[in-house]
Amino acid sequence: MTIDQEIAKRRTFAIISHPDAGKTTLTEKLLLFGNVIRSAGTVKGKKSGKFAASDWMEIEKKRGISVTSSVMSFPYKDFHANILDTPGHEDFSEDTYRTLTAVDSVVMIIDATKGVEPQTIKLFKVCRMRGIPIFTFMNKMDREGRDPLELLSEIEEVLGIESYPMNWPVGMGKGFLGLYNRFGQEFVKFNGNEDEEYIPFAELDHHPEISEDSTFKSTKEEIELLEEAGNEFDAQRVKKGELTPVFFGSALANFGVKAFFDTFLNFAVPPQPRKTEKGYIEPNSETFSGYIFKIQANMNPAHRDRIAFLRVCSGKFERGMSVNVSRTNKSIKLNQTQAFMARDRETVDVAYPGDIIGIYDPNIYQIGDTLVEGKENYSYKELPQFPPELFRKVRVKNVMKAKQFRKGIEQLVQEGAIQLFRQDSTDDMILGAVGHLQFEVFEYRMKAEYNVEVEFVSLGDRIPRWIKNDKFEKRYFDSRSMLVRDRNENYAILFENDFTYRYFRDNNKEIELIDLLEENEYQ
Ligand code: GDP
Repeated sequence: MTIDQEIAKRRTFAIISHPDAGKTTLTEKLLLFGNVIRSAGTVKGKKSGKFAASDWMEIEKKRGISVTSSVMSFPYKDFHANILDTPGHEDFSEDTYRTLTAVDSVVMIIDATKGVEPQTIKLFKVCRMRGIPIFTFMNKMDREGRDPLELLSEIEEVLGIESYPMNWPVGMGKGFLGLYNRFGQEFVKFNGNEDEEYIPFAELDHHPEISEDSTFKSTKEEIELLEEAGNEFDAQRVKKGELTPVFFGSALANFGVKAFFDTFLNFAVPPQPRKTEKGYIEPNSETFSGYIFKIQANMNPAHRDRIAFLRVCSGKFERGMSVNVSRTNKSIKLNQTQAFMARDRETVDVAYPGDIIGIYDPNIYQIGDTLVEGKENYSYKELPQFPPELFRKVRVKNVMKAKQFRKGIEQLVQEGAIQLFRQDSTDDMILGAVGHLQFEVFEYRMKAEYNVEVEFVSLGDRIPRWIKNDKFEKRYFDSRSMLVRDRNENYAILFENDFTYRYFRDNNKEIELIDLLEENEYQ
């Protein structure tokens, strides 16, 4: 197969959702289609989120590095699917955001009984910045959910993306009759389980149990309204992430999932050219290149090795190949590499754009590093700074260990495990994280790797806003709107809550505030 054919069939995507919307359940169904697993219920073990953080570390220690479930790769029909897991629940961290820079499209699951929830909004914003296709799966139609039209307008209003329902639910919960598939021009009858019965629209007259049903009749009116007043389907706008195709269904009942997956694979994009300071690099370029979007350190002190996750962006990867690490301009031979199948790690010999490979890291890589075959040198511009939301002041318990403390912090910050700020007035060290687990991992690793015990003082949830202009007066700041400097000496303000933020913004119009989730420039 040529490299162009390999690229054309790659679909690298992530599934984003708020906890409990059904991500595990849906993933499992996709793995069943791909024959990666044989029965439902087998993916549950990977849900580290169901454990407390300390349990999680025990598990990590026992298993070594748990990378097996972070990328699931399998052939399906004419495609090669790479699903990247985005850690949620308690293990939500910056890695969750970074993973979204490595995918070409996303599936957003929404629990139809709840609507758009906070974590979905945050993850959605990252996808939106990148301008990648976003597909929506409106889950749990077998339960009494919210009004479908209301759910659609919530997507449009809260997320600011236009939507196009590919199918429409007829009834829900106990009265769920099935899906009116606008796109496939057929009715999919729900019989309470995964046996989907397909009835082309033209034959519906022969099925009075549906066509005469009062719910069906009233739903048809709703659909007519959609046809008249709703958005038009436009594959180009889907590609740019301006229009999200919406599929209703039930992951648990495996209903509407296959049609969703097949359609998704058709409209989701294969690997695209990516931007570097030397221009866009085409995926089918002769030269292999990729960048590291995540580094997983081993929690076991006896095995200090780390795995770097590399997204292949161009060319063909072959094991044993020499590459140049752009940041250091040093050449390295990639011998110890692994592919990710759902269950096993195995050595990878070749990989193509869109694939993720794990590289053994003897402590030489950093998040964001670009690796290019041969002597060439350029860097992908993929990893912006993500705004943390949780902040804690940090101190060393024993001042005699101040030196190791500094060294540990410096390395962990450089590695991207956590972010460091300084309170401007006191110079106190403040750690910023996206998820609570990051603090625990930090504390654990400081002890295990640097033999330093740390002390935290929580500053709670904060709303961080960066300051665009450098000239401003410092007298406005206090503990509720705390002035800090990030590691690049840029000023930011940590607001205690939304009220303080708005009050400050409205009263200090000359200070221009930046929300990183809205201002990051990717492409
Ligand atoms: P995750 O946290 O997003 O991975 O969510 P899970 O896949 O673990 O699902 C959370 C809960 O919702 C579990 O109890 C699932 O069985 C349930 N669930 C998932 N999908 C559906 C669905 O389509 N219908 C119903 N009724 N329950 C579902």
